[in-house]
Amino acid sequence: MAYNIGVIGTGYVGLVSGTCFAATGNQVTCVDIVEEKVKKLRQGISPIFEPGLERLLKRNIDEGRLKFTTELKDAVLNCSIIFLCLPTPPNEDGSADLQHVMHVASDIADIMNEENIAQETKIVINKSTVPVGTGDKVEEIFTEKIPNNNVNVVSNPEFLREGFAVEDALKPERIVVGTDSEEAGGLMKDLYAPFVRSGNPVIIMDRKSAEVTKYAANSFLATKISFMNDLSRYCEEVGADIESIRIGMGTDSRIGKRFLFPGIGYGGSCFPKDVRALMYSSEEFGMPLTIIKQAHTVNLEQAKFFINKVVNRFEDNLEGKKFALWGLAFKPNTDDTREAPAFQIIDTLLEKGAAVIAYDPEAMENTKLKYGDKITFAKSQNECLPGADALIIATEWNIFRNPEFDKIKTEMNNPIIFDGRNLYNLEEIEKRGFEYYCIGRRSIK
Ligand code: NAD
Repeated sequence: MAYNIGVIGTGYVGLVSGTCFAATGNQVTCVDIVEEKVKKLRQGISPIFEPGLERLLKRNIDEGRLKFTTELKDAVLNCSIIFLCLPTPPNEDGSADLQHVMHVASDIADIMNEENIAQETKIVINKSTVPVGTGDKVEEIFTEKIPNNNVNVVSNPEFLREGFAVEDALKPERIVVGTDSEEAGGLMKDLYAPFVRSGNPVIIMDRKSAEVTKYAANSFLATKISFMNDLSRYCEEVGADIESIRIGMGTDSRIGKRFLFPGIGYGGSCFPKDVRALMYSSEEFGMPLTIIKQAHTVNLEQAKFFINKVVNRFEDNLEGKKFALWGLAFKPNTDDTREAPAFQIIDTLLEKGAAVIAYDPEAMENTKLKYGDKITFAKSQNECLPGADALIIATEWNIFRNPEFDKIKTEMNNPIIFDGRNLYNLEEIEKRGFEYYCIGRRSIK
């Protein structure tokens, strides 16, 4: 059946989820506090880059199933199902900042009281990534403000991947629902039924376990990446090739091929903050999770390890040097630059007096917000090259995989490539006469 659904927070998670719920016939009211964003969304313009999103957004707006507002009241009055898709950024100490989630829960309760709908049945579903026990805290807010309420607080962590968000939302591998209520569980199954027709499971568990599942999944994947990055440094020392090892390991189905790519460390809005939040929570409960602590440490070191290759090659004298930088987003197919390793590279280069000319297919606008005119932005990857002392590759966009090597060689001052993503074949790059530094493989000097 079709539901009236409110989605609070229209970022990567809220906008994609809201649009996909509308695409399966529900009436969806999306709320955001940023007026400019809401204005754009009403015109069908997506504030984020996600393949396939804008087309779906426009269609559902035109067909009257999807609307955008800055008024939380619109969603509270019209919807019995309310998803919280709010930011949970890290505090200084690594814990998750829950202020947005708590404020909105409290505002929903206030609106219900003011509008005399305090006894209405509502399901408030937390899609944000939150530490264990947050559902209990949200429930307490409702109980305090509306004794004997009929609000059911459910956990429904989101597993979509930026760059594949629409695909993941429409065809999730699994849906995790944390609730002890049979009624809420049944409703969630019904709501998600159109998305799991191929048989993928809607897994119902208790709320705390659902909250931990999300952190466990992200921390495990982050650990896989850090394991490979750690191993890559060892490979460089002993003269082994991490790319051969990756394939040798990954073909073991118990290990799997994915998330084994060495690089310059994980970034983005999820892994770094979720690993830290789980670390914090585990310490808070007196049961420190030591493996993820190491995964975090390795990650902090990995970008530095790569940047040091640049610094060492130029004998710590980058003053006046110019670097072409390909890739700014924390991974391909997204415009998201939150905790992007490319930014650590830029910071070091600027600190050491170098100039940077950068290109990214989608993430230039977000980068401009941080660096303004401190770096130069090129219109294409080749425009970065003239007069550059070296090329640095920070994101594995497909368009960087088969570049015009002759152009790179003739237009740059030196034929030097620092490849943080192991994009190129060593033998080929050697034949072409490049000096080449990569991760966990031999360098060509
Ligand atoms: P985001 O920053 O892209 O979006 C959050 C949105 O909430 C913003 O548009 C912001 O303006 C809005 N907002 C803030 N306060 C508000 C309020 N009081 N009322 C209404 N809107 C408000 O964040 P995101 O990437 O969508 O992540 C949201 C949550 O989902 C986080 O907990 C994140 O960890 C989790 N998550 C993110 C991803 C991802 O790939 N981005 C994947 C899974 C889970």
